[in-house]
Amino acid sequence: MTKPHTTHPQWPQQKSTAVSLTFDVDAEAGYLGESPSYARRLTSLSEGRFGVVRGVPRILALLRRHDIRATFFVPGYTAEQHPGVVELLLRDGHEIGHHGHMHLRSDKASPEAQTEEIERGLAALQRAGAPKPAGYRSSSWELTPETFELLLAHGFAYDSSCMGDDRPYYEQWNGRSILEIPVHWSLDDYPMFGWSIDNGGNFTHPRTLVDSWLAEYASARRDGRHTSFTMHPEVIGRGARFEQLERFVERLVADGDVWFARLDEVAAHVAPQLQREAK
Ligand SMILES: [Zn+2]
Repeated sequence: MTKPHTTHPQWPQQKSTAVSLTFDVDAEAGYLGESPSYARRLTSLSEGRFGVVRGVPRILALLRRHDIRATFFVPGYTAEQHPGVVELLLRDGHEIGHHGHMHLRSDKASPEAQTEEIERGLAALQRAGAPKPAGYRSSSWELTPETFELLLAHGFAYDSSCMGDDRPYYEQWNGRSILEIPVHWSLDDYPMFGWSIDNGGNFTHPRTLVDSWLAEYASARRDGRHTSFTMHPEVIGRGARFEQLERFVERLVADGDVWFARLDEVAAHVAPQLQREAK
């Protein structure tokens, strides 16, 4: 087993901490992957579509304003339904990660369907003009042994679905490992703001985002940790919530102590050190 690491990496540009802003562009696939019955639910589909129509442009403008590169996990179906979106993201230098094809939860999909999710997702991203993705994030963060094996077989450089550390680490299964850039529910906009007519959810006050994420950022800065924040354009892209995201980013930028990086850049930066420590 790989030894747990004990030190934090040195971050580029003499910064104390590293932050990745990550966006899962679920759009309509977020609903259709849950159940095909959503195919005739125009209202639900339109809420997913809002993410591409309003959320993505707002996010891109914010990132451009601060010269920040981010990671966007795009289901294959989103790339197919919205052919321009991948091109738009690439034009601004953002990373496109793999997020399944129909956004099926791996733990609810057969091994065959999991294979299809990976392969169709790769093909759709390629057709949309994206380079072969270095990273993968499972739908609803449910990684299974079958999908874990598929990630290794397809040569993914990292996964971003697990929570075994709050620093990059190697997630292990069956004697094999993959570089993990961890996530957590508390660093995700969905548990704060996500709501659906079928599953309910929360309408937390938008200010909660800045309060709780700044607290985590302050803790990470003291430790020298990397933090990955996860957002969904259809969730964070609404007016008042988005203004809070703007406040959050402005504060981090003003501190001048953050290395903003795409997840593939973080992976490339930490992998050599983690491998040295494991020896
Ligand atoms: Zn998703």
